[in-house]
Amino acid sequence: MANFETPEIKEYPTIPLIKEGVMAHSKPFISKDAFQQPLGFPGELLDNWQDVAIEKMGEMLGKYRGLQVFLDSCVKCGACTDKCHYFLGTSDPKNMPVARQDLLRKVYRRYFTFAGKYFPKLVGAVDMTKEVLDDWYSYFHQCSQCRRCSVYCPYGIDTAEISMAAREIMDAVGVGQKYCNEIIAKVYKIGNNLGLPEPALRDTLEGLEEDVLEDTGVAVKYPLDVKGADILLVTPSADFFAEPHVDGLIGYGKVFHAAGASWTISSHASEAANFGMFIGSYENMRKVALRIREAALDLGVKRIIFGECGHAWRVAYSFLNTLAGPFDFLDPRYPVPQHICEYTYDLLKRGALTMDKSANDHMRLTFHDSCNVARASRMGDLPGGQFVIPREVIKASCNHFYDMNADTIHEGTFCCGGGGGLLTDDLMEIRVKGALPRMSALKQVVEEHGVTHLAAICAICKSQFSKVMPYYGFQMSQIVSVHQLVSNAIVLNDKQ
Ligand code: SF4
Ligand code: SF4
Repeated sequence: MANFETPEIKEYPTIPLIKEGVMAHSKPFISKDAFQQPLGFPGELLDNWQDVAIEKMGEMLGKYRGLQVFLDSCVKCGACTDKCHYFLGTSDPKNMPVARQDLLRKVYRRYFTFAGKYFPKLVGAVDMTKEVLDDWYSYFHQCSQCRRCSVYCPYGIDTAEISMAAREIMDAVGVGQKYCNEIIAKVYKIGNNLGLPEPALRDTLEGLEEDVLEDTGVAVKYPLDVKGADILLVTPSADFFAEPHVDGLIGYGKVFHAAGASWTISSHASEAANFGMFIGSYENMRKVALRIREAALDLGVKRIIFGECGHAWRVAYSFLNTLAGPFDFLDPRYPVPQHICEYTYDLLKRGALTMDKSANDHMRLTFHDSCNVARASRMGDLPGGQFVIPREVIKASCNHFYDMNADTIHEGTFCCGGGGGLLTDDLMEIRVKGALPRMSALKQVVEEHGVTHLAAICAICKSQFSKVMPYYGFQMSQIVSVHQLVSNAIVLNDKQ
């Protein structure tokens, strides 16, 4: 347990009184040269960093029109101020979305607007100084890019895009974040965030096959690098070993087995996560995404299905085709890509799976909508499918399901507190404090409906909750994978 106070869960959600600068000390470790270079960034703060930062900002304003619109259109209405979980959990006014945006907006005005160039004080424009850069490094790493604030902004201003832009500028001047950049470098070198090489991955999957056989008496396969398989499963590498993630992977395998599907995992693209998005670097996002294309071509698959990972699904759903497409070599009868929940839901609808819901009777469940699935993508071919489909899969797997308060689910969902590249121990304080709104909503359903477990479809949410739930009096085992529920309930017969 780190040295800070866990916020108190109140009976009713309250907007805190502001405490200036209380989170100014929160900064992630700075990336070393060894992790900067493979991503194409300078290894340390450049001598002429101010010039490079302004030049980079100008380049991005030209490339990303939305960025300029977001910077120009805020009317300071205040609707977003109490919508960020990090403000609600810390009381620091710079964690209000509008104040976070202003950190970049002030510099933008100084160098890119007439009024800011000639009358800076009148429009709150400031020079790009080291103090400003330090503030950026701190507060743009207290934004999980969850986009909750944008839902409530009358202009739809997306603070996530602004924080991604700030991180891209910081990387360009040599001040990158260690956690994200080290991980991306690992993907380039080994193929996944964990640095799990092919032999270790093969061992792990064989171990899973033995465990499932022992448990169920059924020879469910977890295949690796099978050429000519129909389906390529791309899943977060956490699924290969950590609890509760691996229980989800076991579930995917059982679903494929029950459907008689031919599928494989790839050792080349053994990672669904794409941290290129967190650092705002489309170039790195593209390089990571291309590994999936290469694997699909090499293995000759017909479909691509993603496992449970929130931001990976955003990158896949929103960007995969533009980053790594066209995928015209895949079977056109299936969407590119598909989510594992979509796949399972389709089988359930067709009556192709036999489920024994009582296998989950020891749990009373609620569901956490992950931000990148809820607000930045969709699932299936129905509007709001990203809310309906996972819930239908859960309800088909258990007898006791209760949603949390309506203000805290669907598009209004609260971030777990660890998204957007913040899932690192050096940011534990902001992670714990940022989890307050979700923990408050969870406590309410625990008290009202006796909920015992929280299900999620995101590797980051699952890891974050395992770590922060004990701070709020819950147990780390209370977070479960959606396909873990499927795995418990699915009845396998051995026809396949
Ligand atoms: S995107 Fe999310 S974390 Fe960032 S400011 Fe908005 S609400 Fe806060
Ligand atoms: S809700 Fe939108 S317009 Fe209003 S202060 Fe926030 S960002 Fe600005």
